[in-house]
Amino acid sequence: ATAPGPTPREAATHCPYCALQCGMTLREEDGRVAVLPRQFPTNRGGLCQKGWTAAELLDHPERLTTPLLRDPASGELRPATWDAALARVAEGIRDVQSGHGRDAVAVFGGGGLTNEKAYALGKFARVALRTRNIDYNGRFCMSSAAAAGMRAFGVDRGLPFPLSDLGRADTLLLVGANPAETMPPLVRWLTEQRQRGGKLIVVDPRVTATARLADLHLQPLPGTDLAVASALLHIALTEGLVDKDYIAARTSGFEEVRRAVAAWWPARAEVLSGVPVADLEATARALGTGERVVILTARGAEQHAKGVDTVTGFVNLALALGLPGRPGSGYGCLTGQGNGQGGREHGQKADQLPGYRRIDDPAARAHVAGVWGVPADDLPGPGVPAYRLLDSLGTPDGPKAMLVFGSNPVVSAPRAARIEGRLRDLDLLVVADFLLSETAALADVVLPTAQWAEEDGTMTNLEGRVLRRRALREPPAGVRTDLAILADLTARLADGRGDDASPPRGDEKGSFRTPEPQAVFEELRRASAGGIADYAGITWERIDAHDGAYWPCPDPDGPDTPRLFAERFPTPDGRARFHAVEHRPAAEEVSAAYPLHFTTGRVLAQYQSGTQTRRVPALRRAAPEAFVELHPDLAGRLGVADGEPVRVVSRRGEMVAPARLSAAIRPDTVFAPFHWGGAARANSVTNDAVDPISGMPEFKICAVRVERVETP
Ligand code: SF4
Repeated sequence: ATAPGPTPREAATHCPYCALQCGMTLREEDGRVAVLPRQFPTNRGGLCQKGWTAAELLDHPERLTTPLLRDPASGELRPATWDAALARVAEGIRDVQSGHGRDAVAVFGGGGLTNEKAYALGKFARVALRTRNIDYNGRFCMSSAAAAGMRAFGVDRGLPFPLSDLGRADTLLLVGANPAETMPPLVRWLTEQRQRGGKLIVVDPRVTATARLADLHLQPLPGTDLAVASALLHIALTEGLVDKDYIAARTSGFEEVRRAVAAWWPARAEVLSGVPVADLEATARALGTGERVVILTARGAEQHAKGVDTVTGFVNLALALGLPGRPGSGYGCLTGQGNGQGGREHGQKADQLPGYRRIDDPAARAHVAGVWGVPADDLPGPGVPAYRLLDSLGTPDGPKAMLVFGSNPVVSAPRAARIEGRLRDLDLLVVADFLLSETAALADVVLPTAQWAEEDGTMTNLEGRVLRRRALREPPAGVRTDLAILADLTARLADGRGDDASPPRGDEKGSFRTPEPQAVFEELRRASAGGIADYAGITWERIDAHDGAYWPCPDPDGPDTPRLFAERFPTPDGRARFHAVEHRPAAEEVSAAYPLHFTTGRVLAQYQSGTQTRRVPALRRAAPEAFVELHPDLAGRLGVADGEPVRVVSRRGEMVAPARLSAAIRPDTVFAPFHWGGAARANSVTNDAVDPISGMPEFKICAVRVERVETP
């Protein structure tokens, strides 16, 4: 008889990738980890191919299992002990700060980090390093929608209602969102919506997989979404579809908006955007006559130098129709990264302290400093948004050292070749990651980190629902968690200083020196108490008992908040605020030398900068390489056949990838996915113009030319 093997281990957790945070079960048996479906309210057992294959990275042969130090003689990265690596980091930080001041060390975080890590990273920067220079890659993700939400509603929660509301909407308008490829399990809500007789309308310059599901597809020229929004509101006003009682009772500032959209008669919007008047009218009527109506934006509308105003245009439309706070209705943003929501709430943004507090607010500083056990005056002031921070690295007035956690800006930043150069100019670049990303490959020190299945923590999904990530197993030998790295570095910096400017700081009994995620979360609860994103009433036990908990949740014995805005908005007067916004051209317009529009996006089988998904065999087979999508008419003019390599050239750089001919794109526009580095790096081409409010770069439109690549 065969002896029974060890009992399999299981963990009920969530996918490591996008903001849908699909529930899944991990099961380890005989050393192999399988992903199993798990009933969870948002994905109801469904996963996309990224989720199904997520465990393949746990034992991946390219996984980093020892720190790496750059050898000064050879210039190569060489294995090192943890002690040597962390000593090098601490020494480098001390050298840079003593020579150039505290702000000369920067920290760059990520929207995939757990809430605990985002919190600890912000605290590490402000208290251990005492630098103002921290920001994160979420600035490149949803920052425009966040800023628009804050100024209209006084709060920024991606969806202010549960995802399941989508399935019951009479009319659902998706603007610049392609969940059929980016979040496939979400499509079941769209299917349900349509089976109930609802109308799905998609605004996208490409005929995406989501647009193919739609009852109506508006295909505007990239960069003209705001004109579309203004025309929709113009029609709603003309046809008496707006909710006057709601506007009077629950909002302020409408008159200016009414005057601003008066000039956006539909024919004008058609000329600018290419969307036919009849389609604009049909959309406005569907939005204005439905009982349950939802408007959602995503990166297509948001990643522009006018991203905040574009989102505001759709928020204005939603407010005029009386949607926010109406049962089953509202405006929302489909956040992208796994912890895009929680990552922007706990202090890794340049202008923020935990609880979505402003770092320049004296009361907020006093509260957080009290939790941290430091004088409020010692907390640095606001830093600068991600692109400005990255573009200042190594310059005479910019930081000389940077620590990167959970991000790969060499691939994901706009005008990426320039940012790559900035990173090379640093005196010290430290990257914590579990794979040798393109950014890690440039580092002086690489710190190998645990993966999602090897540590506990919480994430906050696109609904503002706080979830538990549960560890299945310990990290492999040689690997540490991000929290352990931060705790160790904190201790080394404190021990090595001993001067009164930088004594050992922080609450010695609190999270500052602990790598324990639950202890960090307990402190996060206190730090967030009373803030916009109030987690004070959320415990890990509460999350376990109820499939998560929605913030704000100030009281452990009180309710959480699945739906916002039912009674009032969290603004000083309780009203939502209209803002008059005006279309303006893209930061870079087409010209004789650069006659085409270039736009970027994602494909189903890859995620973000591709560091992880490009290494999963099944995903690599499904999406092996970048491509440049061209309309056949354009390809014909250029003499390019399907599959032939083409060069896309902008004023900033170029990329080379095979042409993919498709009638799904406008003849005046070309598209490339941004998941690849090297010669196929789409962000070598993109524009680094940023939104003046959010700091969001203009990833979604710039001017290019396309050239055939002559092959020998
Ligand atoms: Fe993971 Fe997002 Fe796919 Fe769900 S949709 S399985 S969270 S990548």
